[in-house]
Amino acid sequence: MAHPASRTREVCALLADGSTVRLREACPDDRGQVLRLYEEMSADNLRSRFFAASRRSGQQAADRLCAPPRPGHRTLVALRGDRLIGVAEYETVDDPASAEIALAVADDLHHRGVGTLLLEHLVHTARENGIATFTADVLADNHLIHQVFADLGLRVTRQYEGPTVRGIIRLAPDERYLSAVDLRGRTADTASMQPLLCPRSIAVIGAGTRPGSVGRAILHNLREAHFAGRLYAVNPHAHAVLRIPAYPSVTDLPQPPDLAVLAVPAAVVPETAVRCGRAGVGALVVVTSGLDAAAEAELTAACRHGGMRLVGPNCLGIANTEASIRMDATFAVATPLPGTAGVAVQSGGVGIALLEGLAHLGIGVSSFVSLGDKRDVSSNDLLQWWECDGRTDLALLHLESFGNPRAFSRTARRVARRMPLLTVDAGRSAAGRRAAASHTAAAATPTMTRRALFAQAGITATRTLGELLDCAALLHSQPLPAGGRVAVVSNAGGAGVLAADACADAGLTVPELPQDLVAELGALLPAAAGAANPVDTTPAVRVPALSDCVDRIARSGAVDAVLVALVPTALTSAVGADLVAALTTPAPDGPVRPPVVAVLLDQMDRVRLLAAGEGRTVPSYGEPQSAARALCHAVERARWLARPPGGIVEPAGVDAPGARAVAEAFLARVPAGGWLDARETDRLFACYGIPRARQAYAGTEQEAVDAAARLASHDGGVVLKAAGPALVHKSERGGVLLDLHGEQQIRAAHRELTARLGTAMSEVLVQPMAAHGTELLAGVVQDEVFGALVLFGLGGTASDVLADHAARLAPLTDTDIHELLTAPRCTPLLFGYRGGLPVDVHGLEDLLARLSRMADDLPELAEAECNPVIARPDGITVVDARVRLLPRRGRDPYLRRLP
Ligand code: ADP
Ligand code: MG
Repeated sequence: MAHPASRTREVCALLADGSTVRLREACPDDRGQVLRLYEEMSADNLRSRFFAASRRSGQQAADRLCAPPRPGHRTLVALRGDRLIGVAEYETVDDPASAEIALAVADDLHHRGVGTLLLEHLVHTARENGIATFTADVLADNHLIHQVFADLGLRVTRQYEGPTVRGIIRLAPDERYLSAVDLRGRTADTASMQPLLCPRSIAVIGAGTRPGSVGRAILHNLREAHFAGRLYAVNPHAHAVLRIPAYPSVTDLPQPPDLAVLAVPAAVVPETAVRCGRAGVGALVVVTSGLDAAAEAELTAACRHGGMRLVGPNCLGIANTEASIRMDATFAVATPLPGTAGVAVQSGGVGIALLEGLAHLGIGVSSFVSLGDKRDVSSNDLLQWWECDGRTDLALLHLESFGNPRAFSRTARRVARRMPLLTVDAGRSAAGRRAAASHTAAAATPTMTRRALFAQAGITATRTLGELLDCAALLHSQPLPAGGRVAVVSNAGGAGVLAADACADAGLTVPELPQDLVAELGALLPAAAGAANPVDTTPAVRVPALSDCVDRIARSGAVDAVLVALVPTALTSAVGADLVAALTTPAPDGPVRPPVVAVLLDQMDRVRLLAAGEGRTVPSYGEPQSAARALCHAVERARWLARPPGGIVEPAGVDAPGARAVAEAFLARVPAGGWLDARETDRLFACYGIPRARQAYAGTEQEAVDAAARLASHDGGVVLKAAGPALVHKSERGGVLLDLHGEQQIRAAHRELTARLGTAMSEVLVQPMAAHGTELLAGVVQDEVFGALVLFGLGGTASDVLADHAARLAPLTDTDIHELLTAPRCTPLLFGYRGGLPVDVHGLEDLLARLSRMADDLPELAEAECNPVIARPDGITVVDARVRLLPRRGRDPYLRRLP
């Protein structure tokens, strides 16, 4: 009997080998398949699995597993295509917080991670239902399942009872579990990208015979780049395209290709994708544009069902220059040179420009992906790919947003430790942010904030594509500077001054050189030369003296970088190979040589990499500003690498299931989302142990008087605040009355609020009047590019006027928290400014950690604002808070599943 209503939503996830499986709760329809799973299991497997069914008949087991969910019992099934390949169940016995589990996977699918994946999802479901431990009775010799438990990453204890072992798994997730899940996720992700970026065979579907056909152009590029695998064309009207054999349909190909590139009309993209899935294609690139939302959804569904990763739609294609692959599945004009830069772009046009720019610099590309509409593969997947492809050492991104922002900040921070990660911050328009209602959201706008966020993630963000290439040239060719001290060397005094100014503007320093070095240089250079910094060699200098001079400065340890600004003279001619060689000679011994950059003032065009033999190069810029900015980015990267990454802070006493329940109850009441009322806000904050002012709700004047008597502060003062669903900014509407003393004042205040606000006020909030302190703001806001941010700064009514806020990406590490606390201009007030006592900084740090945790737990959290937080030497109190939730499900970082 079918219970379609009991069929829960399916999620897709990747196995260790990169193939896709679907997971969902079992339903009565599954009974036949579950029975078959048992019947097909070998006796050995049945015995050794710790599955409860080994003690029962298959019939009974199937009945029990597929029964509609009941309290304390859940069953998850895993499916591949239409086949059920595994089941996992938990059931509470006596203690509602502890459940027994059982697991079974089809014989032919062991060692693929099906069991682990089912368990991860079972852990998640159980945690959401308030279960704290799993127990499992396993035969002592069942090594496979013991290994599965151990690998899970949760804490497992064992009790030996004769031939069986009772494993007790504690479900509370921690950073260890998170990294175990994360590592499994990355392994699976990378494996799933294999058919996409390292295909052994490719079919171009929609390869036309006429010139001008996009499919034909791709086929042409694949052939011209000498693709290492087999190539097919799919075209129902031709036997061959560009002398490559053509077949009427993907199902007619002699073998299912690893990769299919779709260049068919938008209307037939979904059905073509379905056919690819059936034919066993490994991955899809869809270049076609103009799919409507429904067609895009059908396309994604077809890819999930068929276990295919998807690039696009609406993209330029992909390329991998690895010698054993040689794939150029793009319709760009030129094939990228092989090399070490990974490139991902959203727009095809920018992709072409970027590839052209890199080619001009002679920087080769490892892989190139035009992501288009990013229905599946995003920059996060590529960052992970480059992280372990063994080739990429420089990542370039040009994107409007970074895939799943929640995953982005973790991934970027990890990958940026291995390689420079460059992106263009095109500067988001303010319009989108203005739509956000609370002041916290508006405060997140400034460019300064965006710069800080990129910096926190270790990303080098430039303002233009040109600046991106300027940085790429420097980071590709030179070591990182240890600091920001620059020596400017020039053969024309004016050029040296320009360059020194440019360095200062970019935030670098041009320090005076030490006396002995100045003397040393003076002896080398023509008589009229000035050897302070900038070093003016005069136009009379000859190349050997100039290069000697640069070399001595580089070795001196007095500066962290050398900028050589040259104007061509008869003596230095344009740029002789000997000069370039001098600029790039590595120090044979002694300290690491600082980076050297050239500015050729006659060049006046974009950056070049001057070759100096033995593969060494030096970047040369047309303008000192470009060189200085690139150096400044390199200094920032070096500083980021030197900064301790810190650990993510785990505040104690957090009730995440409780918070989830508050969020779900609110969204059940207000499905479209909106502001929590005061009580809901209280409940949510209590789950995170956020120190709120004591408060009570009063429906009537008398209740307000009674509450005031209970709550009054040491000097008897109370605060009355109007509360109501639409009252977000209370004092703007005259809804906050402070420092009230005695029954009469309270009664008068209550009447005043009632008169002023009428029906907008549903009740009154009574709080003790807090002692004087520094009013601060702390909050969370969602940024469409970066994901959840934690904000901190000056609060109270001044917060809008002064806009003194800083923001950092959640989740915060201890280093992040320290930086966030010290970033706003108001910070000196906290640490005892002008003889004042320092406020409770630990309390503030703890508050920020708790807000960060809340943001990490609740993807529904659109914004949360504590304003003001009153900070005093003896503690902190949140006297006002508001929270807005939206109905969206983010990705649980503890749960692997595809978007
Ligand atoms: P809103 O932000 O909605 O206007 P608040 O509750 O933040 O309302 O109150 C406005 C201002 O009143 C605060 O910025 C703070 O200066 C002051 N205030 C509010 N509650 C208290 C309190 N319990 N003790 C002392 N001052 C308070
Ligand atoms: Mg306020």
